[in-house]
Amino acid sequence: METTDVDKPLFLTGHSVFDQIFYLRRGMTVLLSDETFSEGRSFLRVLLKNHRSSMYELVSARFHLAESNQFSVPVESLQDLSIYVNQKRRTEKGKIFVHLYLPELLIRHSPEEVLKVMELWQKDVLNAGNIEFYLLPRNTFADFERKARAIVDAVIDIQVVKQETRFLYYFTPMRSCSPRHHLKGVQFEISDSKLLIEWEGVLVDSLPSKIVTASDIRKKIETKEKEMVLKVNNIEPDVLTVNDYVILTSLDGMPLWTVKMLYPDRWPEVEEKIIQWAVSGVLGFDEAKSEKVYESRKGLKLRNRLLLSVPTQIALYLVSLSKGFLGKRVRTVPLDAHLAVLEAMKNIVDLASAKNPEVKREAKLATRYFGELSARKTALEYVIRLEGTPYTNFRLEYAPKLVAISLKAGWGLDVNFISEEKDSWLFEIKKCHLCEDAHSNEPFCDKFVSSVVSGVLGVCLKRQVECHEITCRAMGSDKCTFRASLV
Ligand SMILES: [Zn+2]
Repeated sequence: METTDVDKPLFLTGHSVFDQIFYLRRGMTVLLSDETFSEGRSFLRVLLKNHRSSMYELVSARFHLAESNQFSVPVESLQDLSIYVNQKRRTEKGKIFVHLYLPELLIRHSPEEVLKVMELWQKDVLNAGNIEFYLLPRNTFADFERKARAIVDAVIDIQVVKQETRFLYYFTPMRSCSPRHHLKGVQFEISDSKLLIEWEGVLVDSLPSKIVTASDIRKKIETKEKEMVLKVNNIEPDVLTVNDYVILTSLDGMPLWTVKMLYPDRWPEVEEKIIQWAVSGVLGFDEAKSEKVYESRKGLKLRNRLLLSVPTQIALYLVSLSKGFLGKRVRTVPLDAHLAVLEAMKNIVDLASAKNPEVKREAKLATRYFGELSARKTALEYVIRLEGTPYTNFRLEYAPKLVAISLKAGWGLDVNFISEEKDSWLFEIKKCHLCEDAHSNEPFCDKFVSSVVSGVLGVCLKRQVECHEITCRAMGSDKCTFRASLV
C-alpha cells in the first residue's frame, strides 16, 4: 500500500525530466486520473513512445482495436476479467499495462468488487514485474476513486486549466516522486508528439546536459559579473512564450555586466530570470573579454549638471547640435520608416492571432519591451559618453528634463510638464504626431512614449519608473497626457 518500495528496480522512461520527477518501478501500479478520460492516455502514449513494443493497452470489447498491442478484455464478469489479465501477466512479464476499461467495469459492478480485484492484483503485478496504469476520469466514480488511491502504489492526477484562451495541462504526482514535486502540479504540453515538461519554470523535453543549481549560477553571476557573456542555447521557440523568446534572443551575446547596467532599476528581477533560464538550459555563458573599468563616481559632472540646469528649450538646442554637446549626433530611426514597419508587424500579428489569440497580447508586450530596451541602450550609451562612467545617479529633479530630451531626440515630440511631485510627474504632448490620424479605443501613444520614459529614467535614476498614457488624441481627447511615477 503506502510503500515507495525502493527494492523494486527503477524503470526509466527515457524522458529525463519526467524521470527526475516521478520514479516508476517494476512491479508498481499507478492510478492515473484525468478530466475527460483522454488526457491520461495521450500523456502515457507520448511519455512511453520509446517503449511502444512492450506497452499493452487493455480495453473493453466496445473499443475499436486499431493497433497490434491493444487487447480487448471481458468486462461482463470480474472473474473472467481477472483470469484473462493474469494470464496476460504470466505470458508478458516485465511489460507496461494500461487499463482503459475501468468506467465500463464500474457501470456493471459494484465499487467494492472492483476494488477487491485490484487489491488482489497488486501481488500479481509485483510478481510479473510489470508497470500497470489504471486510467480513470476524476470525480466520476468518487467513492471508488478515493479507495483506489489507497490501494495503488502511486497516483498521478492530470488537470486541465483554462487560462484566457488557452488550455494549460498539469500533472500532480503523489508518492514515488521527488519530495519537492510531491502533490505539486507540474505543467506539461504535448507538441508535435513531444512531451514538454516544466523544469525550473521552463517547458523542456529533456534536462539540460549538465545539471546546475540556481545557487551555483547566482554565485557565479555575483562574483564574475564582468567576465560573462550571455549565450542563448539551441531552443525551440514553442517551449517559451513569445515574449520570453523575444527577451531571451535579444540578450544573446550581451555581456552580463551590460545587462546589469541596462536594468539597474530592475536588476534583482532580471537576475532571477537569467538564473531561471540558465538552470533550465536555454541560456548559457561564454567568457567575456576583459570589460573596461569605469570610475565608480556617482555624482554628475559639472558640465552635465549645467546642461540639466538650463531651461529645457536651451538644453534641447544643445543636444540637437550635430556632434555638439553629446559628442555624437543622436541617432533616430526616421519616424515614417518606423511606423511602416510597425504597420507591417501589426498585420502579421493579426494574421497569427486568428489561430492563437494569445499572440496578440504577447506581441504587445514584446513591442513595449523592445521600445524600452532600445531606450535603455541609447540612454546608457549617452550616460557613459557624457559622464565617463555608467554609475552616475541622476537626481530626481532632473527627471522632467531627461524625459523632455529623450522624447525630443527619440520621437521628435515636444513635452510640457504639468505637475511635478516628489515621486510622480504629469506631462502632456499637445501636438503628438504619433497618433495624428489614429483612432483607437485604448491609448495609442503609450507603447511608444511610456517605454522610453521607463527605460531612460530606469538607467539614469537607477529607480524603477512606471509610465502610463492617461488621455490620448486617438481616443478623442484634445491632447495626450502621461503620468510617470516611481515604483
Ligand atoms: Zn496619444
